[in-house]
Amino acid sequence: MKRLTIIGGGASALMLAAQLDTKKYSVKLFDKKKTVGRKFLVAGEGGLNLTYNTTLDDLIDQYFPRAFMAPVISQFTNQDLVTWLKSHDISTFTGSSNRVFPEMGIKPIEVLNKITAIISAKEIEFQLDTKWEGWNKEGQLCFEHIEDVASDIVVFALGGASWKVTGSDGSWKNCFEKQGLRVKPFQAANCAFEVDWNENFIAIHEGKPLKNIALSFDNQFSKGELNISKFGLEGNAIYPLSRRIQEKLIEGENVVIHLDLKPTMTIDQLKAKYKRSRQAKVTGILSKDLNLDRTSIGLLKQFCDKNTFSNPELLVPTIKSVPIIIKSAGELDEAISTIGGIALDELDEHFQLKKIPNSYAIGEMLDWYAPTGGYLLQGCFSMGFVLAEYLNGLINREG
Ligand SMILES: Cc1cc2nc3c(=O)[nH]c(=O)nc-3n(C[C@H](O)[C@H](O)[C@H](O)COP(=O)(O)OP(=O)(O)OC[C@H]3O[C@@H](n4cnc5c(N)ncnc54)[C@H](O)[C@@H]3O)c2cc1C
Repeated sequence: MKRLTIIGGGASALMLAAQLDTKKYSVKLFDKKKTVGRKFLVAGEGGLNLTYNTTLDDLIDQYFPRAFMAPVISQFTNQDLVTWLKSHDISTFTGSSNRVFPEMGIKPIEVLNKITAIISAKEIEFQLDTKWEGWNKEGQLCFEHIEDVASDIVVFALGGASWKVTGSDGSWKNCFEKQGLRVKPFQAANCAFEVDWNENFIAIHEGKPLKNIALSFDNQFSKGELNISKFGLEGNAIYPLSRRIQEKLIEGENVVIHLDLKPTMTIDQLKAKYKRSRQAKVTGILSKDLNLDRTSIGLLKQFCDKNTFSNPELLVPTIKSVPIIIKSAGELDEAISTIGGIALDELDEHFQLKKIPNSYAIGEMLDWYAPTGGYLLQGCFSMGFVLAEYLNGLINREG
């Protein structure tokens, strides 16, 4: 049997291990942490959003670069993931926002335990608390505290570079660069963005949500919720724009996003309501007739001059498009995911590293992006599954 080493124990590695044919491979999984799946559990803290229930085309549209991710997602889709989980006694349900979660009552740790039980039942050995540190001169794998390991095939699934506490710290970057691979700098994705709030506004509205709003930036649009923090804005409405915002910030461009506080109404509808109002004060019209909450009105006040605020012809269009200047992105370590990592042109179509024979890389350590909404875990699970299928077939093909 060929020796197959998996390094990393996150979502992508666990799916790979669960699907590998252990009649063909003797598999060992290393992780530097004492337990696997720590980021998976962190993801579960806010509700373990496993995937998104939509058509395949819509699902694929969420990934960047599309050309790299489309074949991966097509080979193991959202429906395939739900079926796979169900076949392993993990039922799921689709929430009102089309996000897919484990059935009520199934905790993230139970999902993780079920997946690790599948792996253990296949007699795959976990070697935990063991950090991979590179290669020796003979090309064997070097780990902290143990002897170098010879392996026929190696799969790296070392994660991105946020939430270091989970083990995903990106410290593997140098090891690959020493081998001549191009590793792109990590950047926060699905993260908070800095806004220069007016002191009075933030004193009153810190921690408040802006619900059912829409955002636009650079011809990209998103809907959802924003949370106002001292630092700026975060939440599922801004995450889908995060890759594009980051790109522009890094290019040194001024970034202005536009916030639509009333996405279900047109400017004409809002103007008509405004005209019909019997309120004497503008704030009264905004709250009573246009149903804007205190935070939305406070925000309008911060971003409008007095002339605009008192003139409905100017104010109403602004309600549909409040310009907010973004100063910077939030801390890398606090981001839900990162972009950057191993450049995709370092891989062939089977995730094999072109410069390191018989070595593969999957998961967030590669330079791809998806917004929150279950797309990240789906992407990682799809890569793990697709690579397992390929490696299982490889032995047949080689005889
Ligand atoms: C707060 C938060 C909430 C999230 N919520 C969701 C969500 O609801 N839905 C969703 O789809 N996604 C979510 N995500 C993202 C998702 O969890 C990740 O994209 C996914 O877990 C990445 O999986 P991975 O297999 O690439 O790597 P990871 O899960 O990051 O695992 C990498 C593993 O490699 C190990 N490792 C690293 N370096 C070494 C080394 N040198 N030697 C040995 N081992 C090493 C680490 O210890 C770690 O166990 C969330 C993320 C965060 C931070």
